[in-house]
Amino acid sequence: MSFDLELSVNQKNEFPNEYDVELFIKREDKIHPFISGNKYRKLKYNLEEARKLEYDTLLTFGGAYSNHIAAVATAGNEFGFKTIGIIRGEELADKINENPTLRFAKAQGMQFKFVSRSSYRDKENERFLEVLKEEFNDFYLVPEGGTNLLAVKGCEEILNEEDLAFDYICCAVGTGGTISGLINVSKSHQKILGFPALKGDFLSTNISKFVTKNNWELITDYHFGGYAKVNKELIDFINQFNQEYNIPLDPVYTGKLMFGVIKMIEANYFKKNSKILVIHTGGLQGISGMNKRLIDKELPLINE
Ligand SMILES: *Cc1c(COP(=O)(O)O)cnc(C)c1O
Repeated sequence: MSFDLELSVNQKNEFPNEYDVELFIKREDKIHPFISGNKYRKLKYNLEEARKLEYDTLLTFGGAYSNHIAAVATAGNEFGFKTIGIIRGEELADKINENPTLRFAKAQGMQFKFVSRSSYRDKENERFLEVLKEEFNDFYLVPEGGTNLLAVKGCEEILNEEDLAFDYICCAVGTGGTISGLINVSKSHQKILGFPALKGDFLSTNISKFVTKNNWELITDYHFGGYAKVNKELIDFINQFNQEYNIPLDPVYTGKLMFGVIKMIEANYFKKNSKILVIHTGGLQGISGMNKRLIDKELPLINE
């Protein structure tokens, strides 16, 4: 097994000092190339639970380029579970080999069921789950994006004692599981800033289900139009950042996060002498799938 928790250290970033802040990035992306960052954290206790309850199959949901699908497929392969992915979009059924994430997940042994967007919306409905149980026998259900109580517990392990020295902790937000874990272990002198990768105001409600503290805030200005939406400015930023600091960012989550943090530093959002920790939650497997779409849109590509 190759989990590089040791590597998940604070890597200091030389960011221009004229802003009087210190910027650090925590490289959770280095934990594993496919069960990366927060997906490892979110699966850890769920896999333990599935094993304890003697399930041999994991079933989960995701979109065509999902980091979560790639992570569950790899985890199943490494830890000896069969995996089933319920994928949004019937049209993808005969395009598996054109899609890097699905091709990869299939090679890890994942079995797919492609469903229409409307049945996908019903995925948490009891009836839909019963139909799936009839089709696939019994399985341990990992929710979309992997977020549940056990996932939040895993994300509480992202921060360590040393991280108490930070004034701000910043992370990307999809379903809210990761930020919930960070909030739960933060101290009241710290502020947790979440950068949603999608539009919509349901996220605060989701997060509130898992946390009791209120030292957090969502910064909603950097979703670039919605989930997996990108533009040239974002792609250029990701490529420049990689060139300058040798740190790759993904276009769906961490690129938008870092773009936002740097804009806010430039706008003097942070108090003088603040120590800021950005969590690199991974997601790099999604770059090649995004590049395929960027070719169609005639946008520049992300350097791999
Ligand atoms: C899934 C994912 C997120 C979102 O995490 P949530 O716990 O769903 O908010 C953030 N960053 C990356 C790279 C991800 O893959």
